Amino acid sequence: MTITVEQTLLARVPEALLIGGRWRPAAGGETLLVRDPATGAVLKEIASASVEDGRAALDAACDAFEDWASTPARVRSDILRRAFDLLMERKEDFALLMSLEMGKPLAEARGEVAYGGEFLRWFSEEAVRVAGRYGASPEGHGRMIVTQHPVGPCYLITPWNFPLAMATRKIAPALAAGCTVVIKPAELTPLTTLLLSRLLEDAGLPPGVLNVITTSRSGAVSEPIIRDPRLRKLSFTGSTPVGVRLLEQAAGGVLRTSMELGGNAPFVVFEDADLDKAVDGAMAAKFRNIGQACTAANRFIVHSAVVDEFTRRVTARVAELRVGRGADQGVEIGPLIDERAVDKAASLVADAVSRGASLRTGGHAIHGPGTFFEPTVVADVPPGSDILREEIFGPVLAIVPFDTEDQAVAIANDTDYGLVSYVYTESLTRGQRMIERLATGMMGLNMGVVSNAAAPFGGWKRSGLGREGGAEGIHEYLQTKYTLTPDPFV
Ligand code: NAD
Repeated sequence: MTITVEQTLLARVPEALLIGGRWRPAAGGETLLVRDPATGAVLKEIASASVEDGRAALDAACDAFEDWASTPARVRSDILRRAFDLLMERKEDFALLMSLEMGKPLAEARGEVAYGGEFLRWFSEEAVRVAGRYGASPEGHGRMIVTQHPVGPCYLITPWNFPLAMATRKIAPALAAGCTVVIKPAELTPLTTLLLSRLLEDAGLPPGVLNVITTSRSGAVSEPIIRDPRLRKLSFTGSTPVGVRLLEQAAGGVLRTSMELGGNAPFVVFEDADLDKAVDGAMAAKFRNIGQACTAANRFIVHSAVVDEFTRRVTARVAELRVGRGADQGVEIGPLIDERAVDKAASLVADAVSRGASLRTGGHAIHGPGTFFEPTVVADVPPGSDILREEIFGPVLAIVPFDTEDQAVAIANDTDYGLVSYVYTESLTRGQRMIERLATGMMGLNMGVVSNAAAPFGGWKRSGLGREGGAEGIHEYLQTKYTLTPDPFV
């Protein structure tokens, strides 16, 4: 029975590229295979775009731009709102599809549909609230008019870990602002974006406004698009090294860029924290999405007065986590995305243990089929361990003790990244100090999850440029024009 539901769903996912309103195979007939990371089984064979297809997709976005930019904001808003309603109707399809291609537990996949859907609703509301300014020049000799305009055709590149939310977080503000787009999902999880594109067509999006290219040759297909002078905006979510390379490619055209890159989030537990809340927050901040989130807590920095108790309590919780295929009932930890991710988790744990860290639970790969890793706790991680410097991207919770507030801040800020931090304290003034002292674009103060469509999501330092969501999100896709006119009374 379950198999039939899954097969029926997979059969409804388009297997072609969407270019200029037409679903079509890749020009050279190339395809790529999408696999279930829990079993290694092939889920679907889909088109793999060539350089030529990439150019055709950009042609289509450029052709559609003028009409879409001049479409009334209310019409654009209504399409996004219909897309939100359709997504809520089709919630179970999207949750199951994400669980199949990415591996996340079904309950979390449902949470991602709710979160990802909010970007469609939020930006349907923001589309009609783009404001300008009108006022007298300070000298009184003229009138100054400030207006906002869609930036132009955009190229959106998304990662595999949140297949729906990373797509809606870019598509919704771009369309709301009046931009047309080419989107390239990750080759590991392209099915959700294909199904979402069909949904946007059903919501009434005109041909050419959204174009989709799936490909196994991301670099070769993307570079000519990014270097094309007609492209005006690049929005990327993914790893920092790839983001840096794309920024270099974007420099020639002085492209507007948004970069949502890697993280190395500190999770600081002070001696005055409510430990029940801190342990709950730790489980959410660490194990959501199998630890494969840019916002995942990477380093647990815990005061020496409570570190033993905190470690004991989280270890008990972690040891009980149910591991399995995400689409199966009751599973809390699915597979990692691929073999490389398993090897990385294993080597980070081995490095920490070889330097003297103590392994409290887990620590090893689980034999296949599928790419699973045991939920793990390592305590007393010594300074200099790789696990404190690198993004773990797996279900491994690493604990470092500290004694003073200054020490906690120094350890927390000792990273090139600055996406998010988590702080647990019952002291209001200490919480306020942390807001000012921790160098991250976002903070959870006694909260283990911060993502919200109404908030500006983004990082400091090597975690990125720009913000997605909130009142800020639409401005990533708008450009400002200032006009001076004479004083109308002279
Ligand atoms: P990745 O950088 O390997 O890939 C991201 C996307 O870029 C994929 O679509 C991939 O196909 C594409 N890509 C890879 N090489 C490319 C190239 N040379 N040219 C053009 N496109 C290319 O990252 P990933 O493994 O898919 O995702 C995990 C990373 O994403 C982690 O570092 C994570 O922290 C980060 N992430 C950040 C956020 C955020 O909002 N800051 C959100 C989710 C994930």
